[in-house]
Amino acid sequence: MDDCIFCKIASGEIQGLRIYENEETLAFMDIAKDVDGHILVIPKAHCKNILDCDPETLSAVMQTVKIVADHLVENCGYEGVNLLNASDESAGQSVPHFHIHIIPRKRDDGIDAWPKFEGAKEDIHSVFEKLKM
Ligand code: AMP
Ligand code: ZN
Repeated sequence: MDDCIFCKIASGEIQGLRIYENEETLAFMDIAKDVDGHILVIPKAHCKNILDCDPETLSAVMQTVKIVADHLVENCGYEGVNLLNASDESAGQSVPHFHIHIIPRKRDDGIDAWPKFEGAKEDIHSVFEKLKM
């Protein structure tokens, strides 16, 4: 997509700190500087989010997430990862090109990567009745 920043990073039109790439996907450093080692994994072909991506693209992205996560633990001194994704503006997505955030973790690193929820408003059983497939 012409005006998509992540498409431009994927194509090389805009520079990114490329950690790993293959034909279908790219892992690069997030510029937020909010936590050490914040990485994004994207498909090179544009899709907006998980609701918009075909299964093959999603599979390719998750395989790259696994390759990068293994690398962080096997070669970079980390012990685990948090994976984060916002799909749709309602969920907080700010860049409309599908991406998985990888946050590398070490025990006792002091990072709180889990959202603070305010507590469920509905009874779990009535929500279950609405959600079950
Ligand atoms: P989200 O809010 O989940 O859509 O996340 C978008 C992420 O993209 C944020 O963490 C931004 O810091 C990151 N971001 C935006 N522009 C760039 C860029 N040019 N290079 C690397 N990361 C970026
Ligand atoms: Zn794009």
